[in-house]
Amino acid sequence: MGITVTENQGNFDFIIAGGGAAGLSLAHHLIDSPLRERSILIVERNLQEHNNRTWGFWTNRPTLFDRIVFRTWDRLRVTCPEFSRTYELGDYRYHMIRSLDLRRFSLQELPARGNVAFLQGRVEAIHDQGDRVQVIVDGQAISGRWAFDSRFRPVDVTAQATPCHTLWMHFTGWEIETDAAAFDPQTPTFMDFRAPQRAGLGFFYLLPLEVRQALAVYTLIGGARPGASAGEAALTAYLESTLGVGTHKILRKESGALPLTDRPFPRRLGKRVMAIGLKGGRLKPTTGYAFLRIQHDSAAIVRSLLQAGRPFDIPPDSPRYRWYDALLLEALEKHGAGVLPVFSALFKGNPIQRVLRFLDEAGSPWENLLLIASLPPGQFLQALLSSRSSARRSFNAQSIRARIDKRRAQDQERAHHLPTRKPGLSR
Ligand SMILES: Cc1cc2nc3c(=O)[nH]c(=O)nc-3n(C[C@H](O)[C@H](O)[C@H](O)COP(=O)(O)OP(=O)(O)OC[C@H]3O[C@@H](n4cnc5c(N)ncnc54)[C@H](O)[C@@H]3O)c2cc1C
Repeated sequence: MGITVTENQGNFDFIIAGGGAAGLSLAHHLIDSPLRERSILIVERNLQEHNNRTWGFWTNRPTLFDRIVFRTWDRLRVTCPEFSRTYELGDYRYHMIRSLDLRRFSLQELPARGNVAFLQGRVEAIHDQGDRVQVIVDGQAISGRWAFDSRFRPVDVTAQATPCHTLWMHFTGWEIETDAAAFDPQTPTFMDFRAPQRAGLGFFYLLPLEVRQALAVYTLIGGARPGASAGEAALTAYLESTLGVGTHKILRKESGALPLTDRPFPRRLGKRVMAIGLKGGRLKPTTGYAFLRIQHDSAAIVRSLLQAGRPFDIPPDSPRYRWYDALLLEALEKHGAGVLPVFSALFKGNPIQRVLRFLDEAGSPWENLLLIASLPPGQFLQALLSSRSSARRSFNAQSIRARIDKRRAQDQERAHHLPTRKPGLSR
């Protein structure tokens, strides 16, 4: 069985704060590499197994988690107001992994290596200490060579220093079982826009698990957070009126909110501390998908450790795709559900593989051009123009702030050099 913190005298090569998607993925990538002998500690505040999340993602490559994929599909359906189409994915597959299975698999596989330990506890702080890093868990200090931090707090996003776009993506999901056969298990719904389009852009996705079982999720981008009852009312209407699934019972609920933002996320939090997962900005700002990006990131971190002896030498995010993200966020912020024609045109005018590569940030500039040419120009041009003006605003705000700071520094400098008046000499 695996080492314990006491046996290892509180000294680890790698300490991972948070045993969610990013923390566990990084641990698996480490033990799948020449670094497999290094000691790893994963600190998670709640090690109970619970199936509270489902990760869907598409890929045309194997992943480290193929053994625990719960369902795989080779087609996807998209339904927009004016058309509905089922796309064959070619060499892509759409996979679904349950958080329960990743947790179980990790708790079995990782400690069995002998050099990986799990610790249930709350990471309170992480700081550099000379050429090591100290992680404080429930008041106890544990020492490591490198620490990876996935403790994401929404406040990290809301307390932003520079102007940028941030919209929240709200999920309300149910895993349901129907009395009669209601679903085609071969065909998941990637996006169905027959949703309440209030202040934000709403859509459903539906992953059929059996003919009588499915995970149905209502997603709202932007707008105010829908109350639990509004989200559930939308789901009920979709299942009963739009899909006509008949009598059903809810087996499990899944909900959450994600910040879709183009703000920069610092990766380096200290000399020996690196942000990973959502905290490291691995959520794709325009899709809300992160799982596959986390896999690519974990692989890049391991490569950097091997080649540079430190984790930080990873490829930067593509400026081209950051720009597309900013444009779409700007359009969503301004027009809300009014951007629906953009999504319709995207799916109507392009092969699905091109769309998936675009969303994966893997398409070439030429492919991007073809895709952008298929979109209605109005909103994109508007977003482009106003993104320029918001960039200008941000530049102006920054330069004004820089001037204020400079003036303040000059005043302080002057005050510092002024001869101080001696008491009693003033008149
Ligand atoms: C409802 C929902 C559905 C999603 N669906 C998809 C999807 O289908 N496909 C996709 O690609 N992405 C999806 N995402 C986005 C993304 O993949 C997930 O949010 C993913 O879990 C992010 O991984 P993470 O490791 O950054 O965060 P998490 O998986 O949340 O892991 C962070 C871990 O840190 C632990 N932790 C926090 N604070 C402390 C502390 N102080 N001490 C110790 N431990 C701590 C938490 O308990 C948690 O286990 C979804 C997100 C949500 C909310």
